[in-house]
Amino acid sequence: MAEAKNCTDQHCPHHGSVKTHGRAFVGTVIEAKMQKTATIEWPRTRYLPKYERTATERSRVKAHNPGCIDAKKGDIVRIQECRPLSKTKTFTITEVLGQNRTFLAREELLEEAKMPEKVDQVKSEEA
Ligand SMILES: [Zn+2]
Repeated sequence: MAEAKNCTDQHCPHHGSVKTHGRAFVGTVIEAKMQKTATIEWPRTRYLPKYERTATERSRVKAHNPGCIDAKKGDIVRIQECRPLSKTKTFTITEVLGQNRTFLAREELLEEAKMPEKVDQVKSEEA
């Protein structure tokens, strides 16, 4: 947080006027293209009584990404609930804890899978 003194973000949990309360989660930034907003995802387990097993599900929320934190895609972040900042944002990132290497490696593989040659092959087979 080197730019802490220059932070002019009103919605920043450290330098702005927004107080945090309620629930807190740790998750991975899966998308940070929006201005000062990031999409955070984390796994949770749910017990299914019918099958007597647990299933892994994913939770996804949008969270405020203040200028002084500026979390990037693949970062592991702590988010804290706050007042609604927009129609879909009720969480704010409070700190970056590290990088999710598993997530970044998977994203790279997905990019490789999008090779244009393969798309052409599929199209010619359909024709
Ligand atoms: Zn700040």
